[in-house]
Amino acid sequence: MTTKYLFFTGGVVSSVGKGVTAAATGLLLRERGFKVAVQKLDPYINVDPGTMSPYQHGEVYVLDDGAETDLDLGHYERFIDIRLSRVSNFTTGQVYAEVIAKERRGDYLGGTIQVIPHITNEIKRRVALVAKETGAEIVIVEVGGTVGDIESQPFLEALRQLRNEVGRENCLFLHVTWLPTIGATGEMKTKPTQHSVTALRSIGISPNVIIARADEPVDNALCDKIALFCDVEKRAVIPMATADVLYEVPLLLEQLGVGDLVVEKLGLKATRQPDMKPWQKLVAEVRKPKSSVKVALVGKYVELQDAYMSVREALKHAALANGVEVEIGWVHSADLEKDKGWDVIKSADGILVPGGFGSRGIEGKIMAARYARENKVPYLGLCLGMQVMCVEFARNALDLEDANSSEFDRGTEHPVIDLMIDQRSITDMGGTMRLGLYPCLLQKGTKAADAYAVPSVDERHRHRFEFNNAYRERFEQGGMVFSGLSPDGKLVEIAEIADHPYMVASQFHPEFLSRPMRPHPLFVGLIKAAKERGKK
Ligand code: GLN
Repeated sequence: MTTKYLFFTGGVVSSVGKGVTAAATGLLLRERGFKVAVQKLDPYINVDPGTMSPYQHGEVYVLDDGAETDLDLGHYERFIDIRLSRVSNFTTGQVYAEVIAKERRGDYLGGTIQVIPHITNEIKRRVALVAKETGAEIVIVEVGGTVGDIESQPFLEALRQLRNEVGRENCLFLHVTWLPTIGATGEMKTKPTQHSVTALRSIGISPNVIIARADEPVDNALCDKIALFCDVEKRAVIPMATADVLYEVPLLLEQLGVGDLVVEKLGLKATRQPDMKPWQKLVAEVRKPKSSVKVALVGKYVELQDAYMSVREALKHAALANGVEVEIGWVHSADLEKDKGWDVIKSADGILVPGGFGSRGIEGKIMAARYARENKVPYLGLCLGMQVMCVEFARNALDLEDANSSEFDRGTEHPVIDLMIDQRSITDMGGTMRLGLYPCLLQKGTKAADAYAVPSVDERHRHRFEFNNAYRERFEQGGMVFSGLSPDGKLVEIAEIADHPYMVASQFHPEFLSRPMRPHPLFVGLIKAAKERGKK
């Protein structure tokens, strides 16, 4: 079987939805019966985004095997409904680290190490790994950044070489660009697209398909112009106006003929007709007028909503399953400490405290958890959101005044959240947490067990600290229920408050496994409880 490749590049500006376009295209191909895999190449020098600030990078998306990856992998998993692994994301940092390690070992036998061929060879090796490990017939490769960036040049060069090695008939370059509109005249412009294609061609790549993104519908005449100036077939210019519903993107691309075009150009034969009905139904549901529930999201990086991409999507999935719309009130936890932002908390039907690191805004999160517990407002805590729920409970329900997580106060008398023994000697920051999929046994008769309706689950983790077992009994006597435990019973995975409509929190990150067609039970539970509270 020959592997076929789709290479997605970006032109003009970033943030125009290249990842979503690649993900949606993957869905159209999977729907035609092909086994699809996806890979994102990130041009930055960090080894992975795990050590990067969410302000810089947005959310860190965690995979089953514990890989800390780019948030585009979340789009891939949600749209195509696949489970990806470590090979699906690599960075310039990883490529160089590998090449330099080989050089130090003497593997290159005295050769001079250069970008071409050593770096490009390592890039090609990693791209080829995807097909090897997944057995995919079609591999979608998305190159991060935009054409013209210094950083992405070795990637593009490697893909250009790869095209010759695997055969031109087995590769397609899809270039996603942006058509700006001039405010004064209302005119939409193709010039930046032309320039970015010129830049691409100067390194030897002529795109086969141009996906022209714009905020408004794109005129036919503009598509003609792009086809002419950029040397692509007219039917391969895809005018893609911004969709108001994210999950409409695959439907639009299908309507524009992208699925058939790609299959034909790769010389493939679809084994079945795509069934887009579930997506049509989903989008119709989203569009239906509904009552809304308000969820206050109490975070630290709320200025940049990309930092909570999967949480936001999971809330939307769960709302849809409950026949409501979710209105997210973004609350900066540090504001709560300064008596600001409380109006959002007080008017909310539910409160969500997501994951996070570092002490800034911690007390505000603890205040939000206290408010939720005392006022019986439905609450969902994710990772750090579980830890603050426990700290709050210790301080205010168990009278352990100075209780804290040892992440925030090393000397606390009551470290109810503490480092695991095997984490204590670790000094490296990157890739050293409890990462990836771990099993969790649900305790019968709890809210979590009811929500999941199965005896055990596997969920994705990303944290260093854990609930401190020395306090388990006291918490249980005080009214906290440990509704999810590791199979050996040693790690608290889910905690909930007994005397409360829905105060549930997990040490793992359920948001990474929520899918548009399969909303996550813990989120569904939150929205359901919030909806009931809203009615009252
Ligand atoms: N900072 C906490 C820990 O490391 C929580 C991490 C998170 O929320 N992802 O345990």
